[in-house]
Amino acid sequence: MRFPIHITTDQVTYQIRKAMAGETRYPLVLMLEPLYTCNLACVGCSIERHTGKLADRLPLEACLKAADECGAPTVSLCGGEPTLYPELPELIAGIIDRRRHIYLCTNALLLDTKVFDRIPPHKRLTVNVHLDGMRETHDMVCDRKGVFDKAIEMIRQAKARGYHVTTNTTVFKETSLEEIEQLCKLVKSLGVDGLLVSPGYHYESVKENIFLTQQEIHRKFKRVLELSKEYPMQSTPMYLEFAAGLREYSCSPWSTVTFTPKGWKKPCYLIGEEYIPDWKTFWNSTDWEYWESRQDDKCQNCKMHSGFEASAVRELRKSPKDMLRMAAWNFLG
Ligand code: SF4
Repeated sequence: MRFPIHITTDQVTYQIRKAMAGETRYPLVLMLEPLYTCNLACVGCSIERHTGKLADRLPLEACLKAADECGAPTVSLCGGEPTLYPELPELIAGIIDRRRHIYLCTNALLLDTKVFDRIPPHKRLTVNVHLDGMRETHDMVCDRKGVFDKAIEMIRQAKARGYHVTTNTTVFKETSLEEIEQLCKLVKSLGVDGLLVSPGYHYESVKENIFLTQQEIHRKFKRVLELSKEYPMQSTPMYLEFAAGLREYSCSPWSTVTFTPKGWKKPCYLIGEEYIPDWKTFWNSTDWEYWESRQDDKCQNCKMHSGFEASAVRELRKSPKDMLRMAAWNFLG
């Protein structure tokens, strides 16, 4: 199975409940950024995400309130580097108590000192390690030597200790497809439970010209689509076909909502035009129809899974063939 059965059933039950309530837009994932403090300053990361002071982090109660208010069945803990969040054990316990699934998105450098002895493995917890290539590329992206070797060692240890582990890779302009394949082979040999590969998006506040245009995304993702038949990719085949330019979708920016020390990020995970302190105001004041249409200049090169995985799922009901493919992908993958 591509995803553990409890994750699949929770997601499906949640969506059925929403459909029965007549809701057509609802969050599936909460990107929770409890802090803007990081122990790295990666090329390609927006500056606000690695310069924040620890004192400016979100209080634990605010994080849990965000999870309650938005109701998403999956919470992705990112940042900043979430292992630096002092209240991480309490935060993870609180989210598990709410029967949600957690992806702890980490550079893995502190797993041995901040996680392994403080947060036990749990079926609702996935450790999601950032790996943007093999040693030379990943250390270049992270702007520090030794990060790749440490991350690989932490993946080994996490698997040996019984954690559910996935990896998360961004494909940049310079990323070679051979290298992506090498990385897939390596992490599969380490026994990881899934790989997420996504195209880089040009954050507004990032200066380097390392991100992909649509044509480059299409070319590279045609190969990623082939690789997904051999490796346990977490992206759906329909989303990968979209990333490869083989089908079109409107965006579903409401499917992935983002809460940060500055408030709810509006309109989407990638664009912070405004930050709103209160959930209801954020949800009701965002012009979802406009952002779904992708007519804004900032949307032109965007193929991010945070906007389009939900679109792929939403469109399934129009195609029984795709529905069957999706079931086979999940249950037989
Ligand atoms: S297309 Fe991309 S940038 Fe535009 S709203 Fe959707 S996720 Fe955000």
